Amino acid sequence: MQSYQNPSIRIHNSLSGKKEVFEALNEGHIGMYVCGPTVYSNVHLGNCRTFMSFDMIFRYFKHLGYKVRYVRNITDAGHMVDDAEDGEDKIAKKARLEQLEPMEVVQRYTLDFHNTLEKFNLLPPSIEPTATGHIIEQIEIIKEIFEKGYAYEANGSVYFDVAKFNKTHEYGKLSGRKLEDMIANTRELTAQDDKKSPQDFALWKKAEPQHIMRWPSPWGDGFPGWHLECTVMSTKYLGQTFDIHGGGMDLKFPHHECEIAQAEASYGHSPVRYWMHANMLTMNGKKMAKSTGNNILPGEIFTGENDLLSKPFSPSVVRFFMLQAHYASILDLSEDALLASEKGFAKLMEAFAALDGLKTGNQSDFDVKAWEQHCYDAMNDDFNTPILIAHLFEAVRHINLIKEGKESITSKDKEALQLTINNFVFEVLGLEQKAGNAADTEKLSGVVEMLIRFRKEARENKDFATSDKIRDQLAELGIQLKDGKEGTTFSVN
Ligand SMILES: [Zn+2]
Repeated sequence: MQSYQNPSIRIHNSLSGKKEVFEALNEGHIGMYVCGPTVYSNVHLGNCRTFMSFDMIFRYFKHLGYKVRYVRNITDAGHMVDDAEDGEDKIAKKARLEQLEPMEVVQRYTLDFHNTLEKFNLLPPSIEPTATGHIIEQIEIIKEIFEKGYAYEANGSVYFDVAKFNKTHEYGKLSGRKLEDMIANTRELTAQDDKKSPQDFALWKKAEPQHIMRWPSPWGDGFPGWHLECTVMSTKYLGQTFDIHGGGMDLKFPHHECEIAQAEASYGHSPVRYWMHANMLTMNGKKMAKSTGNNILPGEIFTGENDLLSKPFSPSVVRFFMLQAHYASILDLSEDALLASEKGFAKLMEAFAALDGLKTGNQSDFDVKAWEQHCYDAMNDDFNTPILIAHLFEAVRHINLIKEGKESITSKDKEALQLTINNFVFEVLGLEQKAGNAADTEKLSGVVEMLIRFRKEARENKDFATSDKIRDQLAELGIQLKDGKEGTTFSVN
């Protein structure tokens, strides 16, 4: 096994645009911050892909023996409907539409987020801080930015002065933009705007009288700007310099660019050593979007309840499908691609299940040590999971040949092979064997759906004893029923 003492990991740093040799700031320790979800709706599959990519990276570092502090936040205030910061706070808007308390919206979708990631077998982060839990710290950093002269107040809101910052710093360096071009390409400010320039972004927004989510500040009642929370929470838990900051590609601009500006303005330097960005998930060659119907929720893949797929796919198959692409490449989801992944995944699991029973001999036709090194080389090269998976299939080929008696393996090599497979397949890629059989999953769904129908009939006949019995006995078997507006759904633990 390798360890962190072998410093051969290379990471594509979005800031330099190059692959760089990774060196941890503190030997044996890694601080990693990833921008989490804004919890105002069910988590998107594209977001799941981002979090899955960083879960794989988290797992690999841990596998190498690093002590990793992985911080992934929950945005529960301040993220505006329109990224240009006009309009409403996303959570406040949802709360108004559904007539809920904003914290009810937050609670509901945080639960959905956690449940979904758990199904995909993501490990929980070390710390999961919330924006509303760090209002005081956010106010403090605004004061600091003020003192350094990069903020101004206007009508109860506070804005970051991008033009002034850009005179001595380089705004746009992460996303490769120039302020002059941004100015040329943006609309004029309207009379209602409090900002001096369209590029300026809010550090603090004044709360209108009807706005429920509000906190007192030196500038009056309001709420923090979205970009601020990540600067505050990353440095609070990881220090003013830390190793990795990740997120989806769509966050590079303006979110991460603004994070850099805020940190440089207040601390005098950007805290991040390696910026990493996970790429988009498209569907049938097009951008996924609710508005066009080219969209699918994770839960709909697991149950097959949508018009875009003809059958359900297990979370492990979807996870395997996603890891077959490099985290920084665009990945396209389609029924054909999922079917191919399901087949590949079954083949992989079948071979690994057969490994235990393989007969051993006096010599090996398979150089396990060299193969193991190739697996590490793939992961060390910017976490190249598609190459790793290709190597895993190389092992499958040998396992099958040994099974057929066409090749042989020594018991020592067999043991090494088992250990390495276990490390990479289950520990690093986070795949789960149990969910491998989609046919069984489908049968189970059929049976549970039938019981849900019986329960509904019982309730309609006011036979609550029977309906409760169905629910409770399913719960004993680890199957949870959930009644919602659209009927009853279930989850298997
Ligand atoms: Zn963020």
